[in-house]
Amino acid sequence: MKTLNFDDLAVPGVRELMPYTPGKPISELEREYGVTDSIKLASNENPLGASPRALEAIRGELDDLWLYPDANGFELKQALARKHSVDPSCITLGNGSNDVLVFLAQVFLQPGLEAVFSQYCFAVYPIATQMVGATARVAPALQADHPMALGHDLRALYERVGPDTRLVFVANPNNPTGTWLDGARLKDFVASLPPHVICVVDEAYTEYAESDRLGDASTWLEECPNLVVTRTFSKAYGLAGLRVGYALSNPGVADLLNRVRPAFNVNSLALTAARAALEDQDFIDRSRRLNSAGLIQLGEGLRELGATTIPSAANFILAGFERSGAALNEALLREGVIVRPVGNYGLDNYLRITIGTEAQNQRVLAALKRILG
Ligand SMILES: *Cc1c(COP(=O)(O)O)cnc(C)c1O
Repeated sequence: MKTLNFDDLAVPGVRELMPYTPGKPISELEREYGVTDSIKLASNENPLGASPRALEAIRGELDDLWLYPDANGFELKQALARKHSVDPSCITLGNGSNDVLVFLAQVFLQPGLEAVFSQYCFAVYPIATQMVGATARVAPALQADHPMALGHDLRALYERVGPDTRLVFVANPNNPTGTWLDGARLKDFVASLPPHVICVVDEAYTEYAESDRLGDASTWLEECPNLVVTRTFSKAYGLAGLRVGYALSNPGVADLLNRVRPAFNVNSLALTAARAALEDQDFIDRSRRLNSAGLIQLGEGLRELGATTIPSAANFILAGFERSGAALNEALLREGVIVRPVGNYGLDNYLRITIGTEAQNQRVLAALKRILG
C-alpha cells in the first residue's frame, strides 16, 4: 500500500496534539492482567453509582429511543434555570462539560489568540487551546510548600493576561490537584479581568465541597458578564457514562456557544436522567458525606504510608511518593487496583486516587502498604 503522510494534511494545531489520557477501564485491566474483582479509583466516578431516580427515569424513556432527542433540551434547561435562578437563554448543554470547553475554544480562540491557565490544570484546557491553533499562556502553580500546594495562583494567572487573551480557564476545585480557591477572591479576579477576556470557572466537583468557602460562581453571572461557569453530571451526580454537562453564561455568550454546538449533542437518555438527578438532592447529600469521610480516611492512610497529600475539596486525592508514580501504578494494577498516574501533567512521583467506598479506600491503602513495604 502506498504510504501517505496524513499528518502533513492535518491543521497545525492537531499535528502535535497529544490526546487525553483516560483512566483504564476495569474490563481492559482484567483482560490484560488476568486479574478479577478489580476496583477503579481512576476517573473520579461516584462509588455510589447513579441516583436511583435517574435510572428509573431512563427506563421510561427506552421505548422512544428511535426518536431524535430534543435538540434544545427544553425540559432540562427549564430545570437548570430553576436550580440556578437564571434564564434558560443562559444555558448551553454539552455532551459532558468537556464538550462545552471545546465550544469555548472554537468560539473564542484561533491562531494568534491566547488562553491562560495554570500549571497542573485540567488536561482538556491545553488540548482545546491547541486544537484550534491558539497559544497557551501557562501560569506557574503555587509551590509545593504553600498551604495550597500545586494550586492555582491568581496573581500569576492575572499577569499572563494580555491584549490577545480571550479565555482564562480556572477549575474550582481543580483536577488533578484537588486544590481550591476562595470564592470571594476568585470573584474579584473574574471582575478584574478586562472586557475582552472571558473567564471560565469549571465547577465539575463543586457538589463535593463541604463548606461555602469555594463560593458558587453561578451566582456571580449578573455582576460578571464575562464569566462562564461549567458544571457536569459526571461526578457527584454519578452519570459519567451518559455524557451530560452544561455552561451558564451571559445569554450573548450562550448564543455563540450554541451556534457551534452539534444539534443533538446530548442524547435523550442523558437529558432525562439529568433532569431526574437534579431532583434527587438526597443522593447528592449522601455522595458528599461518603466522600468527606473518604477524604479523611484515604488522606490519613496515605500520610501514614509516608506519602504527601495535596489539600483536596474534590472526590480524589493527589498523593506524592518517593518513587515513580508510573511504577507504583503498574504494581497497583497487578493488585487489581486502578488509580491514575499523572506523569502527563508533569507530576511524575504522584498518583491521583479517587475516593471510593470505605472498603475500596481500605483496599487501595492495603495494596500500597504491600507495595511500599
Ligand atoms: C471530569 C471533569 C470535567 C468534565 O467531565 P465531563 O464528563 O466531560 O463533564 C470537567 N472539568 C474537570 C476539571 C473535570 O475533572
